[in-house]
Amino acid sequence: MVLEEYKDPQLAKKLSEKIQTLAEEIEEDLLFMHVCGSHEWTISHYGIRSLLPKNLEIRPGPGCPVCITPSEDIDNAIKLALEGKTILVYGDMSRSKGTNGKSLLESRAEGGQVQVIYSIQDAIRLAKTTPEKEFIFFAVGFDTTSPPTAYEILNGFPSNLSIILSYRYMPPIVGAVLKSSILGIDGVINPGHSSTITGMKPYYPYFLETKKPQVFSGFEPIDILISIVMLLNQIKNANHKLENEYTRSVTWEGNIKALKKLEEVFYLDTEYVRGVAYIGNSGFVLKDKYKHLDAYPKYGLTKKKSNDHFVYGARCGEVIIGLSEPTECPLYMKECTPHSPKGPTMVSFEGTCRIWSEHAIIKSIKKITKS
Ligand code: SF4
Repeated sequence: MVLEEYKDPQLAKKLSEKIQTLAEEIEEDLLFMHVCGSHEWTISHYGIRSLLPKNLEIRPGPGCPVCITPSEDIDNAIKLALEGKTILVYGDMSRSKGTNGKSLLESRAEGGQVQVIYSIQDAIRLAKTTPEKEFIFFAVGFDTTSPPTAYEILNGFPSNLSIILSYRYMPPIVGAVLKSSILGIDGVINPGHSSTITGMKPYYPYFLETKKPQVFSGFEPIDILISIVMLLNQIKNANHKLENEYTRSVTWEGNIKALKKLEEVFYLDTEYVRGVAYIGNSGFVLKDKYKHLDAYPKYGLTKKKSNDHFVYGARCGEVIIGLSEPTECPLYMKECTPHSPKGPTMVSFEGTCRIWSEHAIIKSIKKITKS
């Protein structure tokens, strides 16, 4: 199929009829989750939820990197910015608020040194061209954004550049979603981008543990619809497995070169996923050889136990994990808007509140109660 065919309305109609038939045959209420801001964008933008039968619902889960970055890391970045070190940060992340309701961007008003960048290469260039200043790269994202940083670390960081490391590894996060009795998920649409790096293999232990269906999906509307059909077929035939719809990008082994670089620089450990929990092996940590690049020990910062610290009355935490939808938050499109975001899921372009607000979604989509 050429890419345009992944938007074909005739094919979409056929697939939505197939979804109706399969869901009718299964009869039970079914709750699927995806864990990717791009998937939520496609589902919202193309109105895919309106095509789903009444016994099937798809909820957005913890798939937005800015949303799951702990407030503690934001607080520490602000602290260093106010001390005169320059924090290099992506645009969305610069607007996400820490525990005191302040963002990195807002800290500029008090003299915080914050510069928005677009890549790790920008950070390297700035540090090299201004050797008299100290820079800290605020590294957030999943498995897609971590390999270029690993590559640059292996190439040699300038001595005036260190890192606040908030990279998270997606497979254990999906594992936590699958295992959650509170969510009661029947199947997961796995992320496309990060799985291109990790491959399907690290998701297999979570399949063995839960025996719940997983389908790796691309980002076009037809990709999503095919993935739903695959999940439904697995359930109907009682043949649960790890399945790959996104074969044009995701493989079993993943990007071996990128994974090797990651393994050389980082190991995985228990870390906090904001709004979700401390999850084993979900955080990238610098290996001893590169520990000197870690801004926490370098600047005497301490890791306390993370808390969520969202705005009073907000539902950000529940939205991140898919327990609440944005429309259930009393602040949604009132005090909290894309122009004046109160929580990370409205700040980030990959956050559910932001995506829903941009698509003017003001009605609840909830149909299924499992928990
Ligand atoms: S509308 Fe704003 S405050 Fe409410 S959950 Fe979303 S981001 Fe949080």
